[in-house]
Amino acid sequence: MMGPTAVIDLSALRHNLQRAAALAPGSRLYAVIKANAYGHGLLRAARAFSDADALAVARVEEAVQLRLAGIDHPLLVLEGFFNAEELEAASHYQLEVAIQQPEQLQILSEHSIGRPVTCWLKMDTGMHRLGFQPDAVDAAWKFLNAHASVAKGVRVMTHLASADDLSNPVTNDQLRLFRVHADQLNTVTSIANSAGIIGWPTSRTDWARPGIMLYGASPMLGRTGVSEGLRPAMTLKSRIIAINSFAKGSPIGYSGSWVCPEDMRVAVVAAGYGDGYPRHAPPGTPVLLNKQRVPLIGRVSMDMLNLDLRTQPEVRVGDEVVLWGEGLAVEEVAERAGTIAYELFCGVTQRVVFEEI
Ligand code: PLP
Repeated sequence: MMGPTAVIDLSALRHNLQRAAALAPGSRLYAVIKANAYGHGLLRAARAFSDADALAVARVEEAVQLRLAGIDHPLLVLEGFFNAEELEAASHYQLEVAIQQPEQLQILSEHSIGRPVTCWLKMDTGMHRLGFQPDAVDAAWKFLNAHASVAKGVRVMTHLASADDLSNPVTNDQLRLFRVHADQLNTVTSIANSAGIIGWPTSRTDWARPGIMLYGASPMLGRTGVSEGLRPAMTLKSRIIAINSFAKGSPIGYSGSWVCPEDMRVAVVAAGYGDGYPRHAPPGTPVLLNKQRVPLIGRVSMDMLNLDLRTQPEVRVGDEVVLWGEGLAVEEVAERAGTIAYELFCGVTQRVVFEEI
C-alpha cells in the first residue's frame, strides 16, 4: 500500500492523559474528544481515555454516537442543545450540557423531559464566542436552579481565549472576572483547556478540559508537545513512489515555482492535501526520511509532494517518510504552513489508513 498511514499510539494517548492529570492534580478531567478526537478517532480515543473522569464533545450527535457504542463515562456537550429533540437526547442518554444562550433557557421552559440534565452555565469572560455575559449570569443561574428539568447542582464554566500566550494579560482579566461571579455562586467550576493546564495555575479549578495536549501537541506559542512532557499520539507517514533526476533550471511541480538550483535528484512522496497534508507548507518544510530531516520542494499537490534529495544519495523508491509525529513535531509543520496542530490533526482525510499501536 502506497498511500499515507496515520499511526495512533494508544500508549501515548494514555501517557498524555496522565501528564495532564499530573499538571492539574487538584482538578478532575474531561478528556476533550470532539471532532473525531481531533482526527484521532472518536471511539478509539474514548476507549484509550477510559481512565479519564469524564469526556467532552462539542455536539449532541457526537455524544449520542459514544453512548450507542457503549461509552458510559460522564459526557459533557460543550455547545449544549439547540432544539427539543437534542434536549430529549441529553436527558435520555444522560448527557451533561453547557447552557450558553437564552434560547436554551427558552427550550427548557417549553419542553418537559424525563430525567433532569446536569447543566454547566457558561459565562463569557472574554472569548466572545459562546456564553452569557457576566451581568446576565445571575438571572440564568436562578432560572436553571429553579427548573425541574435541571439536575441539582448547576455548575459554572468559562473558556480562555488567549491562554496559549503567557504574555497576554487577557487571561488574567478572564480569570479575575470569572472569580468575581463564580465565587458568589459557590459551586463547581471549570476553566482550563490545555493551555490553562500547562501555563495558568489559577485556571486549574474543580474540572479541567484538556484537548490538544492529550494528542501530544502543545498549545503554547513556540513550544512543542515533547517540551511539555507529552508524546505524539499520531504519526502520519507515507512512502516514496518515484525518484527522478533533473538538470539545473528544471521547474518542479505545479506552476514551476521551485526551480532546481543544480543537477539533482527529486523524490515524490505519496501524500498531498487530499490526505490532509497542508497545501501551504512551503519549500523547506521538513519531513523525516530514514530519520533525517529532508526539505520539501515545489508545491504540495493533491496526492503527492516532492523532496530535495541532494543530501540523501542512498534513498530508494519505497522508503518510508514521516510527515509529522514521532521525531518530527506536528507544531513545526503547522507553523511552516501558517496553521496550528489542531487543524492538521482534524484535516487528515478519510482516504488515510489508520493503524493502532
Ligand atoms: N473547552 C472548550 C469549551 C473547547 O472549545 C475546547 C477546544 O477548543 C477545549 C476545552 C479544549 O481545548 P484545547 O484543545 O486547547 O485543550
